[in-house]
Amino acid sequence: MEFIPAGKIIGASHQMRTVGIRDSRQLPDGNYRFVDTYCKDPSCDCRKTMILVFLKDVHVSTINFGWEPESYYQEWMGSKADPITGEMSGASIDITSPDGVSAKGMLAFFIALLDEDWIARFRAHYAAVKLKLSGAGQGKNDGRRTRKSRVRLRRP
Ligand SMILES: [Zn+2]
Repeated sequence: MEFIPAGKIIGASHQMRTVGIRDSRQLPDGNYRFVDTYCKDPSCDCRKTMILVFLKDVHVSTINFGWEPESYYQEWMGSKADPITGEMSGASIDITSPDGVSAKGMLAFFIALLDEDWIARFRAHYAAVKLKLSGAGQGKNDGRRTRKSRVRLRRP
């Protein structure tokens, strides 16, 4: 699965989240930027985001977050389920994450920040990215697009 930042696909409607930290015991001070990325396959229904965390433009951590209950992922993966991807529900530090900051500290920070609004934003970005990707050159939305442009052409 290849993941791409939501901002690259849905542009201006995407907002990154930046949160400052001061005097934390587990993480260095600074502004942490969370860039949510989504899988590029429009037919894949993985319902998760990989969040790249930047501190002073350095990629310091990668967080996996799946907003569905574990039962969803088990059913979705079916026989493909294996112990490594066994925990897709909830938040975890990705195995490919850089070791820029304490993994434990980052996970605790992320979970503390996680609220309904942020989860709703992930879901909305996921849906917007999938929609955009499915419409790109696949013919699915071509009819609609053609009709729209015809309407536009008729207007003065
Ligand atoms: Zn996927």
